[in-house]
Amino acid sequence: MIPLLSGSAAHMLDKLSWSSSANPPPIPRWGLEPYEHEPAHGFFLRLAALNGQQATPAFAMSLGLNGRNIDPQQMLQFCKQLPIPGTERLCAATPSIAKSSVYIRGEHLRLGRDWSIRHRRYCLACLNEKSFHRFWFDLPIVRVCPIHQIELASERRSMKWAWHYPLQTSDMAICKTDAALTKADPGLRFSSYILGRLGVLQPSRISLLDNLRLSEAVYLCSIIGKMLIHGWKPAESSRHESSQDQQFMEAGHNFLDENGSLSDLLERHIRESPYCVDGVFGCKDIQKNLGWWYYALYTKQYRRGLDFLMEDTNRVLEKFGACRRLRRKFPVAENEPSAREIATALGLRIDEVIQLAKWNSRIPECGLEEFEAETIKRRSSRMISAETAADVLGVSRKRFASMRSHGIFAPVIKDAGGKSGQYDRNEIEEILATIKSRVPTLSKSAGLVDFDIYRAKACCSYSKAVADVLSGAVAVDGWDITKPGLQAVLVSAPVRTRNYSGRGRLPKHPSPRIAQVL
Ligand SMILES: [Zn+2]
Repeated sequence: MIPLLSGSAAHMLDKLSWSSSANPPPIPRWGLEPYEHEPAHGFFLRLAALNGQQATPAFAMSLGLNGRNIDPQQMLQFCKQLPIPGTERLCAATPSIAKSSVYIRGEHLRLGRDWSIRHRRYCLACLNEKSFHRFWFDLPIVRVCPIHQIELASERRSMKWAWHYPLQTSDMAICKTDAALTKADPGLRFSSYILGRLGVLQPSRISLLDNLRLSEAVYLCSIIGKMLIHGWKPAESSRHESSQDQQFMEAGHNFLDENGSLSDLLERHIRESPYCVDGVFGCKDIQKNLGWWYYALYTKQYRRGLDFLMEDTNRVLEKFGACRRLRRKFPVAENEPSAREIATALGLRIDEVIQLAKWNSRIPECGLEEFEAETIKRRSSRMISAETAADVLGVSRKRFASMRSHGIFAPVIKDAGGKSGQYDRNEIEEILATIKSRVPTLSKSAGLVDFDIYRAKACCSYSKAVADVLSGAVAVDGWDITKPGLQAVLVSAPVRTRNYSGRGRLPKHPSPRIAQVL
């Protein structure tokens, strides 16, 4: 425990100051000096403790101050009357509150979301170093102390946060390094940014946010975080809503800190919308089309500051061939290749171009969702019809269709208007390659059967048999090079069980074909 000031020294300071002051102060003891970053309401609590007060509200009220709802500026006026040095430090760290706005060090914050003294918060390690309240403890958006890399604690008893109190064993544990957060914790960078803006730490630069008021920057971060974390899902109602909000802000800030592209994110976001069907807006409601992003553009308090985002939004919306009403709202941007232009150049339908762009392949190197002519061209060159794909796999059209509905593969361009879908040759060939790669070098020769016999003996569908092999549930034991596609695959015959051992009822009339095989 670090003593604040030994009793006699503090008393001396009181006496000295008093003699030089014309009006005796209204409290018996005031021999304290404000620290840097200490707000008036924090200083007041140290005063209360110095005067032997247990409850600050009662102490404040006895002095004619509002003790129930602390007004930092009122506290500041009171502290300024005291004959103490360093009141300019209090002025610099005391916020002023106007309606729902809070101003600290020239930065604008929202009351409640960004600044609140409802619950007293503090960093144990900071208090351990010097026992006084820092103004940034009052910012709920600062979840962690970037100096000590531990989470801030919350305390309802007013004295504790101002007064250095004997450390408990549980407190010691928090101060130790094992409770320290990793460098990767998103809260650290976000807190550092906030404290950088407020002049506590060295400022870290993020050009997009630096031009905004702090409240707007925090809001933009939270919107970006929602887009990143929730996508198009509505926010889940949670008891820990504020902690979730915190998660959004930190995620959004980290995204911008890592130079994430806002227009790419917006594009991805709009694609996820259920109202964006095949890359075209099926709905005239701007809010539904823009999702979370709508709140970044149209929230009254932030609209003025975030207006510059309109331009990026226009560009992205134009890519999606915004409907007429949206077009009026967002005028056509020039020099952007549209889906229509790409379609004409490649001799495809527009919806085919959009499906190619949207297509998320399972093969990693072409997994990007792009809307570039080059990518579309490359993808379209790989497309094959269902007939060709069935031939590659060596199966009938019927089995091919059944495998498709079993989810073994999916068409890149869906069936439309009597035209059958198209498939990616790489993806189809990948199925064969996957199975072939599992063939053991020393293959058994006895007791191997192909899919046809296997599925009959195992009483399952052909697609199920293929899916089982692909998932690894059934091992591949051989490969007949004389046969095409999946017909070449050889697996061990399933163990034949005459007695039905599965769940449910026994099949009364086994089909004649199965009976024959058995
Ligand atoms: Zn700290």
